[in-house]
Amino acid sequence: LEETLSADQEEDPDKIHVHHASIHNLKSVSVSIPKNSITVITGVSGSGKSSLAFDTLYTESQKQFMDLTFSNPLTENALLDISVDKISGLLPSIAIKQQSFHSNPRSTVGTLTKVADLLKLIFTVIGERKCPVCHQKIDASHVCSKCGEILFDSTPQIFNYNHPDYMCPVCKGLGVQRQVDQSKIVEYPEKSLLDGASSFYGNLRKHRKKPNANWIRGEILALAEDLKEDLSLPFHQLSSSFKQQFFHGSKGREVRLAYETAKGTSGIISRPVEGALSIIQRLSSDSRTSKGHNSLKKYMSSSLCCHCQGERLLEEARLINIHGYRYPQIVTLSITELQNWCHGIYGKLTKQQQQKTSTLFRKLNHRLNRMHSVGLGYLSLNRNLPSLSGGEAQRLKLAIQLGTGLSGILYILDEPSKGLHPKDYQFLLKGITALKETGNTVIVVEHKQCFLSIADMHLRMGPKAGRYGGELVLVQHRQEIKASLSEDHWHPQRNQLSLADRFPETCFFKDSTKKNPPFIHLKKVSTNNLKGIDVAFPIGMISAVIGVSGSGKSSLVTKTLYPYLLKTLGKSVDTTGTFEEITGLETIQKVFYVHQHPIGNHSRSNPGTYIGVFDLIRNYYAATDAAKKQGFTKDYFSFNSKKGQCPDCLGLGEIPIDNHYMEGVYIPCSLCQGKRYTTEVLEIKVKQLSIGDILDMEIHDLMDFFQDEQEIFHLISMLHKVGLGYLKLGQKASSLSGGESQRLKLAKELSKKHNYHSLYILDEPTTGLSNEDVNKVLLLLKELQAKGATIIIIEHHPHILSECDYIIELGPGGGHQGGRLLQCGFPEPPAD
Ligand code: ADP
Ligand code: ADP
Ligand code: ZN
Ligand code: ZN
Repeated sequence: LEETLSADQEEDPDKIHVHHASIHNLKSVSVSIPKNSITVITGVSGSGKSSLAFDTLYTESQKQFMDLTFSNPLTENALLDISVDKISGLLPSIAIKQQSFHSNPRSTVGTLTKVADLLKLIFTVIGERKCPVCHQKIDASHVCSKCGEILFDSTPQIFNYNHPDYMCPVCKGLGVQRQVDQSKIVEYPEKSLLDGASSFYGNLRKHRKKPNANWIRGEILALAEDLKEDLSLPFHQLSSSFKQQFFHGSKGREVRLAYETAKGTSGIISRPVEGALSIIQRLSSDSRTSKGHNSLKKYMSSSLCCHCQGERLLEEARLINIHGYRYPQIVTLSITELQNWCHGIYGKLTKQQQQKTSTLFRKLNHRLNRMHSVGLGYLSLNRNLPSLSGGEAQRLKLAIQLGTGLSGILYILDEPSKGLHPKDYQFLLKGITALKETGNTVIVVEHKQCFLSIADMHLRMGPKAGRYGGELVLVQHRQEIKASLSEDHWHPQRNQLSLADRFPETCFFKDSTKKNPPFIHLKKVSTNNLKGIDVAFPIGMISAVIGVSGSGKSSLVTKTLYPYLLKTLGKSVDTTGTFEEITGLETIQKVFYVHQHPIGNHSRSNPGTYIGVFDLIRNYYAATDAAKKQGFTKDYFSFNSKKGQCPDCLGLGEIPIDNHYMEGVYIPCSLCQGKRYTTEVLEIKVKQLSIGDILDMEIHDLMDFFQDEQEIFHLISMLHKVGLGYLKLGQKASSLSGGESQRLKLAKELSKKHNYHSLYILDEPTTGLSNEDVNKVLLLLKELQAKGATIIIIEHHPHILSECDYIIELGPGGGHQGGRLLQCGFPEPPAD
């Protein structure tokens, strides 16, 4: 004990000391991290960066600082046993992760940052009021005038569209109304109703014989007979009187339908025609059929609320204005525009108004500046939080932290460069430096080298991923970092350069005469911020879409092209973006999209179940003679089924520590020794391995084992090809790092049956990969291309870009400042 105490005293109190961290793949890592400084942890995906920063430092900090109020010896011992010997000098910490907000769709950038609250106050204090009856300015004289006494609530709540008293009564504060849309009921007016012009009524030819089964369809046949209409004509050629009643009903006039069923019975029905619009309206407002409700959504479109014009509020609130600017208009401005508005308007206020609001304006200005400083100047206040990307969400969280003015905090940031164009890094560099300057300690987990220019200390984890990583392979201090930066190919000023500058060796041919593939053409795309651009993607080639964050890459690819393609392929989609025309899709027969969303934190899913190989392996075990003899069917080999799972850990192989603030900490199950199954199931072995052993093995070691099982081998080798060979087949999906989960998705999509005419959309497939793994992904893409696939990637990795056939650059900025096509073409080395 004495020894530990004296060792304690020698420890520098200006550092956080980690002794022998060994959670996950960490190999007894000990390190001292200086306080009030920036430490950047680099290393390839899966090397152990998050295990050190989040699972060791952050988790331990939560525990130590929570322990001031709760004390729980069980967790303390369990945690010490499994993760780290000791950490001293720790600070309270805040994690700023890349997770998008999964909040209420009604919360917005404005509400989260409290900027909306300040604006509401300002409008309440100095806003000019108008009478909603006569639209006259309200003052003492108006109150006694003919409009009567209108009592206004003088509270900022009047601008709160979530408040039942103040929301627009028609749309309930949503700003939009759903209405049945005629063009969605008759999707193919060039076809006849008999041949399925309307997906709502389906193919009426089939129905013609037995109208009694379904009067909804029968009434259309009855109406046609009544009006002597020829239903075999294309819908658009039918008489307007028929079309009118088709949609709006016969207004009480009864029509007769004589029918004969297949069985030979016959009869006559006589009733008024209700009409498609009324039927859909009626069914969708019937609360008993909420399931049917969803399927009716596809016949509706949402439009601006006709009462509030999408402004969500009561009219009295919407009319309040400051020099003609109304609150609902102000919240649609971007942060940058709002900053300008504030400066302009303050000068126009009277001395008295300025006095009342100077503090409010000052606070507002600070908040806006901070959002601007992290590069979010292009966002508008009324943007809803769930629609922000992970990176935008993270920068917003950073801006909020900058505003708290807290000091003495350990901030841990998770891959802040993800999804960012190198031009955007400068904002983050400033924000992170500002955190340090207010007296905080910052740890940045980042696989890219881009944050080293501001680092006081650099820790590199490695040398590789999983079992082959987990060591501290490099520790550098400021001086050494500087020295290595200057000789490194990386220069901060490179970030300022545009694509053409960063690739001086390539030039662009806008109309390449050499390469002339067929193209997919998108005309006048204006989804979100896109400025009516025309873009084309070559079929059978690899195209990259690049541009700063918010420039419109996803708006173009994943919010316009992708949903439109899905729709063309017969899938139902909510919206397809805004554009004039998309052509050239005739040859595409399948589309795959590998996105960045996490796989989910399901502890029962793992690489094996996710890609579907585990199902085949269960079949394989169930087909053995030993299993058949015992009567062990496929079910017995599922760790999710009561039949074969270990009764203690219920097939997880580990048991969670039951404690509310230690979420996610597990100890191995002592009954099955982590093997998940009952002893009987574990006795069924192939080449000495039980199914529990298989789950516990690394994927690359399974390739030999299954070399003769074609289907299993195909899937296993796909995991290996995307660089996940080092993972255990049964490692739970919730524990995979971001890059690992993305590659798992990639492997799944790539292993699906594709054909000559597939199109792949990939969102930053190289996030967190080592150069070696980037090459693996590239090879895979080339393999797909060789099979005839078209590939579109949103990507900034220079190596991938240099191997792409076609490049599309959007920009120049984010939001309003972006959305233009800067350049596109086939990059080619200049002829010498
Ligand atoms: P990085 O942050 O460098 O990408 P991580 O620290 O997330 O890497 O992961 C390091 C290794 O530990 C990876 O192989 C990962 O799959 C593994 N790992 C992470 N969490 C768990 C867990 N809960 N259980 C088992 N292995 C894990
Ligand atoms: P990138 O993919 O290049 O980062 P995005 O296409 O996501 O850019 O965004 C382009 C612009 O459109 C940004 O200003 C962004 O804030 C805005 N935007 C994106 N999604 C939505 C949405 N669901 N609603 C409103 N604006 C959006
Ligand atoms: Zn409304
Ligand atoms: Zn068990």
